[in-house]
Amino acid sequence: MEKKRIKCPNCLNIFQPSGNDENRINRAIERKQKLIMMDCPICYKSIPIHPNDLMLLQKSRDEHIINCPVCCEGIVSYVEDEIEKFWGCGECGNVWFSKKELDDAIKRV
Ligand SMILES: [Zn+2]
Ligand SMILES: [Zn+2]
Repeated sequence: MEKKRIKCPNCLNIFQPSGNDENRINRAIERKQKLIMMDCPICYKSIPIHPNDLMLLQKSRDEHIINCPVCCEGIVSYVEDEIEKFWGCGECGNVWFSKKELDDAIKRV
């Protein structure tokens, strides 16, 4: 089986996920998640990764830390790639395609 490689959107280094992280990625693919949070072993930042395209560079803005209104465990991060922009939780995989949707979800908690 081919080894997965991840490109860190923060430091741009390429690294291989640990076995545990690889399992999380495979589970995210099964659940059709658009986003999964990984810890970069090189810059130690929490980075959003697209489970189906680990080399895809996504811009993430994490200056506003928002706790996920759905699972309450994850952090919502803003992700921007060539195709779309959205906010997503790397824990439960929920995504919001506008700030308003996200704000509404937070208000409902
Ligand atoms: Zn990094
Ligand atoms: Zn969540």
